[in-house]
Amino acid sequence: MNPLAFQYGRLGRGKLWVEGPDRRFTQIDDKTLHIILDLNDRFDWELIQKRHGISKQELEDLEKWIRSKDLEAAEPKHGRIERLDRFRTPLDLSGFLYFLALMIVIQALYWEALARHVSLTAPSQIFVIFPIACAGIIFHELGHFLALRPYTRPRLGMTWIFFLPAVFVQSDVLWKLSRSRRVLVNLMGIFADSIFNCLAILWVFLNPSFEPWVTPLLVTQYIRWLIVLNPLFQGDGYWLFSDLFGVVNLKTEGSRDFKRRKVNVFFFYHLARMVFTIVILLSLALMIYHLLEEVLFR
Ligand SMILES: [Zn+2]
Repeated sequence: MNPLAFQYGRLGRGKLWVEGPDRRFTQIDDKTLHIILDLNDRFDWELIQKRHGISKQELEDLEKWIRSKDLEAAEPKHGRIERLDRFRTPLDLSGFLYFLALMIVIQALYWEALARHVSLTAPSQIFVIFPIACAGIIFHELGHFLALRPYTRPRLGMTWIFFLPAVFVQSDVLWKLSRSRRVLVNLMGIFADSIFNCLAILWVFLNPSFEPWVTPLLVTQYIRWLIVLNPLFQGDGYWLFSDLFGVVNLKTEGSRDFKRRKVNVFFFYHLARMVFTIVILLSLALMIYHLLEEVLFR
């Protein structure tokens, strides 16, 4: 077997991603990786079998599987394994977490001391607050974008969260980063939100008359956090959860086990997802109903 050309990195507990020359990702476990590395080092098959406690048949099957995954290099000169935690970044995780915590404390103090008007004082306020809230979303994504920029040129994508348009940053490179680096990239969105929120708070501190404008704006930011940080939806919270607890493919495994009625953690995850989605849709419908009722029947 020719040496294999692929890059790999850690996903979670005992699981890794590998990317072949065709740039497709495959998930493997630790043992498989070590067998592949041994094959690459051209170890004797009998030695590999003994080392990993597998039969000849299993090793043959694995080799066949590797070939089907196109991990094999087109030319042996590409047959180098790259370890990807070689990336450098100017950002330091502990300093970053310190500033994030500090900004969250500032926001908590604002709610304790200054916030008075949680809802709008006049309906027309919405024409000012809505565009600023949208700018906040772009600022959030800019945070992810800048955190990823040292490694790649991220693409911006568009999606829908229920009926709300949402912008997101796309990048396959995320998987190639170390776990702590991925946590940092994922947290960078709420870090950017916190900068935005703290600037708004500073504004109120300097001009207290703006409090009835800033507080409802902050409410929209926190409602967005409820969705973005919620691990039940595939947002920042989902990926943070996956990195912190080493669980991958939560959504796919959840819907698969649910369909098979296999009762486990993934099953309950999928169940919670469905219940939460129904609750959100129902409360949205109620909200729209009340709004229409106010506008039409008064
Ligand atoms: Zn985000």
